[in-house]
Amino acid sequence: AKKSGRNTRRLFDQQMNQEVVRYVETRDALKLALAHGELELHYQPQIALGARRKDDRLIGAEALLRWNHPERGLVMPDDFIGVAEESGLIVPIGAWVLRQACRQAVAWQAAGLPVDIIAVNFSAVQFRQGKIDAVVFDALEESGLAPECLDLEITESILLEDLQRVLAALQRFEARGIQLSIDDFGTGFSSLSYLRQFPVHRLKIDRSFVRDILKDPGDRALVQTIIQMARNLNLRSIAEGVEDPLVLEQLRALGCNEAQGYLFSRPAPPEAFTRWLAGLGG
Ligand code: C2E
Ligand code: CA
Ligand code: CA
Ligand code: CA
Repeated sequence: AKKSGRNTRRLFDQQMNQEVVRYVETRDALKLALAHGELELHYQPQIALGARRKDDRLIGAEALLRWNHPERGLVMPDDFIGVAEESGLIVPIGAWVLRQACRQAVAWQAAGLPVDIIAVNFSAVQFRQGKIDAVVFDALEESGLAPECLDLEITESILLEDLQRVLAALQRFEARGIQLSIDDFGTGFSSLSYLRQFPVHRLKIDRSFVRDILKDPGDRALVQTIIQMARNLNLRSIAEGVEDPLVLEQLRALGCNEAQGYLFSRPAPPEAFTRWLAGLGG
């Protein structure tokens, strides 16, 4: 028994080592990625829902981070955001994302393309450092983007941070006109009372609830409840991960305000998104 315990322990140590090595490798490569310009943003449209499909219209885009790794190819955020957060690299990376996204939105607006909202994912970790105001306001000033056009997508994990600090920062953003969305809404375990405290403008309904609303009455009830709660609190609702036209019609019937998903477009690099936008008019 003693021996097998030792073997288990050794196996455990080996796995730990592999994880540590992987973490260190990813962290070091990520540090270089930023310096070497390997990071890029892809964009996915966000659509305001009208009475009918023909009344739907583009309101803006969400910026989604990609890592163009010299050997690994295009690396998706789920494979490196965790490391970026743990290592603190999300702070400079997040600042870059914000700057880049604001510039791109201004470029589209200057070209007469109707991108009124640029949604940027914001990690709770970014609030831990002191310069969060400078990061946000500098990106706006440098790009010339109107603050009303910027939408920060944060998750409920923000509630685990120093709440007074976070709340104060969010209130300063709100005072400038910046919008705030709660991402992955419904997946956290938080109390809902924060919704009244935070300057929130929009609830983003997680894809895991949206996906099966036609088949699963429980999911449908949940989505309906979120949409209604948003309306009662004077917030907008947006459904993410919409792939199916029938799901879209169900969301419309439930009174969902906005939608996003592969049905409209996959996240695309700026050039492809620009072509997609130009095609809307024609
Ligand atoms: P998220 O913010 O919840 O983004 C939605 C994810 O669903 C994106 O994955 C998007 O590509 C994907 N998606 C959109 N429509 C559909 C659909 O119809 N079907 C399916 N199956 N998926 C869809 P992605 O781009 O891999 O991003 C994953 C997560 O990484 C994001 O989840 C977000 O939490 C995080 N992330 C992405 N970019 C950034 C960033 O710049 N900063 C931070 N802090 N996090 C980011
Ligand atoms: Ca998001
Ligand atoms: Ca989500
Ligand atoms: Ca997310």
